[in-house]
Amino acid sequence: MDTNFSAEDLAFRQQVEQFYDDNFDDDLVSRLLDRRQFRDAIIEWQQRLFRQGWVAPGWPEEYGGTGWTLTQKFIFEDVRASKGAPDVIPFGLIMVGPVIYTFGNDEQKERFLPRILNSEDWWCQGYSEPGAGSDLAALQTKAERDGDDYVVNGAKIWTTYAQYADWIFCLVRTSNEGKKQEGISFLLIDMKSPGITVNPIPTIDGVHSLNEVQFDNVRVPAANLIGEENKGWTYAKALLQHERTSIAGVGDSKKKLATIREQAGREQSNGAPMIEDPMFSARLAGIEIDLMALEYLELRSLASAADGKGPGTESSLLKLRGTEIRQALDELHMDLAGYYAGTELGEQLASELGHDFADRARNSYMYGRAATIFGGSNEVQRNITAKYVLGL
Ligand SMILES: Cc1cc2nc3c(=O)[nH]c(=O)nc-3n(C[C@H](O)[C@H](O)[C@H](O)COP(=O)(O)OP(=O)(O)OC[C@H]3O[C@@H](n4cnc5c(N)ncnc54)[C@H](O)[C@@H]3O)c2cc1C
Repeated sequence: MDTNFSAEDLAFRQQVEQFYDDNFDDDLVSRLLDRRQFRDAIIEWQQRLFRQGWVAPGWPEEYGGTGWTLTQKFIFEDVRASKGAPDVIPFGLIMVGPVIYTFGNDEQKERFLPRILNSEDWWCQGYSEPGAGSDLAALQTKAERDGDDYVVNGAKIWTTYAQYADWIFCLVRTSNEGKKQEGISFLLIDMKSPGITVNPIPTIDGVHSLNEVQFDNVRVPAANLIGEENKGWTYAKALLQHERTSIAGVGDSKKKLATIREQAGREQSNGAPMIEDPMFSARLAGIEIDLMALEYLELRSLASAADGKGPGTESSLLKLRGTEIRQALDELHMDLAGYYAGTELGEQLASELGHDFADRARNSYMYGRAATIFGGSNEVQRNITAKYVLGL
């Protein structure tokens, strides 16, 4: 594999960097960091990307994708992370969008895709249930046909950003015949439908992003069914592979590693820079090597996707290693922050002590514990790898 970029690719990188310098401004950054302003700020950011035509690099050009080469997509993602910009909210653009353009009918494509692209609709993912997480096919939320509608009853859980969502894409049980995977359908549900209740689940990082969503006799037009009834499992599996590939987070981990290295090089109020500690720098170097290996795995996966093969079972490896590396970096960052990570220092004192990163290190560490659970737990990714990659 030739890893040198061509002159065209380097020019493309410059163009992307310029776009970020012009559009990802300090005001937007501070609004993205403020939880009360986050929703509006991320929508505004996605709309800036949309106006530039860059919001959905993974989509085919005919539906609004960029038509970029594999290398251009890689460069775009690398620049995004290096600028510290957030990824797009995945539920519309990365998850349900591809399901709709792959398995939906023309009417559904026309109705939903433009509104996903311009961030008019916020989507959330209704897969997990109190009794169905890793064993997703055990899901019990029922959809019964009644005339031109389905009537939905049950509950979804851990639904990220359901409190903001206009729509939820759900896996629902439409049959109890045969294997449990065979009676599942993929339904698009308007969150404003009567009978839907959203209950918040605050998490250890002090943030409200998770929810339980209850469905009590919710009527959903049968026109909102994707593909065929009872074939939802096939569509869901395709989506999960996109989800896992996109949560490897190589670019973000590279950015975090560079940040930790810079901060560890600073003079400490209570001693020599941490980078001079051989144990600390050996850990940093170890993670950097693992991250480089992961980057090459991602490039291989992208190359096979470019050959039309789609993300395969290697997306499980990407998810597994990507989240382990993310957690290793979070732990290193916490160690760097030392006991300051356990206190609410306040901005001024933290800055005076040279530990202005302690709060962020702690919050990232707290939320990051979830990374080995969501998108399919890492234990389950190991099972998939054992079976389909190693053939055990
Ligand atoms: C922050 C966060 C955001 C999320 N967002 C969403 C969302 O937006 N939409 C959504 O639908 N879901 C979401 N989820 C749910 C997520 O997909 C599930 O938590 C995940 O699939 C695991 O299911 P569970 O929590 O029921 O755990 P369980 O399946 O009960 O697993 C418990 C433990 O047992 C292990 N285990 C289970 N089965 C096996 C096995 N066969 N072999 C070995 N070990 C096993 C697991 O690895 C885990 O350690 C989110 C979760 C988190 C933490």
